[in-house]
Amino acid sequence: MSEEKRLCERCKAEIPLERVEALPDTFLCTKCSKEVGGDYEITIVPENMSKSGSLKKNYGGFSMQKKRRTIRPKAGPEPQE
Ligand SMILES: [Zn+2]
Repeated sequence: MSEEKRLCERCKAEIPLERVEALPDTFLCTKCSKEVGGDYEITIVPENMSKSGSLKKNYGGFSMQKKRRTIRPKAGPEPQE
Protein backbone atom coordinates (compact mmCIF):
# COMPACT_ATOMS: atom_id res chain seq x y z
CA MET A 1 0.00 0.00 0.00
CA SER A 2 1.31 3.39 -0.89
CA GLU A 3 0.66 6.36 1.29
CA GLU A 4 0.48 8.61 -1.70
CA LYS A 5 -1.90 11.49 -1.31
CA ARG A 6 -4.10 12.33 -4.21
CA LEU A 7 -5.42 15.79 -4.88
CA CYS A 8 -8.69 16.52 -6.61
CA GLU A 9 -8.10 17.71 -10.16
CA ARG A 10 -10.92 20.18 -9.87
CA CYS A 11 -10.63 21.90 -6.49
CA LYS A 12 -7.19 20.58 -5.40
CA ALA A 13 -8.59 19.26 -2.15
CA GLU A 14 -7.17 16.02 -0.81
CA ILE A 15 -9.23 13.02 -1.89
CA PRO A 16 -10.19 10.91 1.15
CA LEU A 17 -8.20 7.69 1.35
CA GLU A 18 -11.37 5.58 1.56
CA ARG A 19 -12.48 6.98 -1.77
CA VAL A 20 -9.14 6.29 -3.44
CA GLU A 21 -9.26 2.74 -2.10
CA ALA A 22 -12.79 2.22 -3.35
CA LEU A 23 -12.11 3.89 -6.70
CA PRO A 24 -8.39 3.51 -7.45
CA ASP A 25 -8.58 5.53 -10.65
CA THR A 26 -10.57 8.42 -9.30
CA PHE A 27 -9.25 11.91 -9.79
CA LEU A 28 -12.01 13.90 -8.12
CA CYS A 29 -12.94 14.40 -4.49
CA THR A 30 -16.35 13.22 -3.34
CA LYS A 31 -17.87 16.68 -3.58
CA CYS A 32 -16.63 17.43 -7.09
CA SER A 33 -17.59 13.97 -8.29
CA LYS A 34 -21.15 14.65 -7.17
CA GLU A 35 -21.13 18.10 -8.71
CA VAL A 36 -19.96 17.01 -12.15
CA GLY A 37 -21.81 13.68 -12.12
CA GLY A 38 -18.93 11.27 -11.61
CA ASP A 39 -15.36 10.76 -12.75
CA TYR A 40 -16.35 8.97 -15.90
CA GLU A 41 -19.02 9.23 -18.55
CA ILE A 42 -20.50 5.83 -19.27
CA THR A 43 -21.93 5.33 -22.73
CA ILE A 44 -23.84 2.23 -23.77
CA VAL A 45 -23.29 1.55 -27.44
CA PRO A 46 -25.04 -1.10 -29.49
CA GLU A 47 -22.67 -3.48 -31.17
CA ASN A 48 -22.71 -3.86 -34.91
CA MET A 49 -26.25 -4.96 -35.81
CA SER A 50 -25.67 -5.82 -39.42
CA LYS A 51 -28.50 -8.33 -39.87
CA SER A 52 -31.56 -6.14 -39.57
CA GLY A 53 -33.87 -8.61 -41.30
CA SER A 54 -33.86 -11.04 -38.42
CA LEU A 55 -36.78 -11.01 -36.02
CA LYS A 56 -34.68 -12.66 -33.40
CA LYS A 57 -33.56 -10.18 -30.78
CA ASN A 58 -30.07 -10.28 -29.55
CA TYR A 59 -29.85 -8.88 -26.07
CA GLY A 60 -26.14 -9.31 -25.83
CA GLY A 61 -25.31 -6.72 -28.46
CA PHE A 62 -24.28 -3.86 -26.27
CA SER A 63 -20.99 -2.71 -24.99
CA MET A 64 -20.00 -0.11 -22.49
CA GLN A 65 -17.56 2.69 -23.10
CA LYS A 66 -15.98 4.44 -20.16
CA LYS A 67 -14.64 7.87 -20.93
CA ARG A 68 -12.76 10.03 -18.51
CA ARG A 69 -14.75 13.16 -17.90
CA THR A 70 -13.19 16.44 -18.94
CA ILE A 71 -12.64 18.46 -15.82
CA ARG A 72 -12.32 22.19 -15.84
CA PRO A 73 -10.55 23.61 -12.80
CA LYS A 74 -12.98 25.15 -10.41
CA ALA A 75 -12.81 28.91 -10.66
CA GLY A 76 -15.41 30.94 -8.89
CA PRO A 77 -19.12 30.25 -8.81
CA GLU A 78 -20.43 28.12 -11.61
CA PRO A 79 -23.89 28.25 -13.12
CA GLN A 80 -26.13 25.45 -11.97
CA GLU A 81 -27.00 22.90 -14.61
ZN1 LIG B 1 -12.78 18.52 -5.59
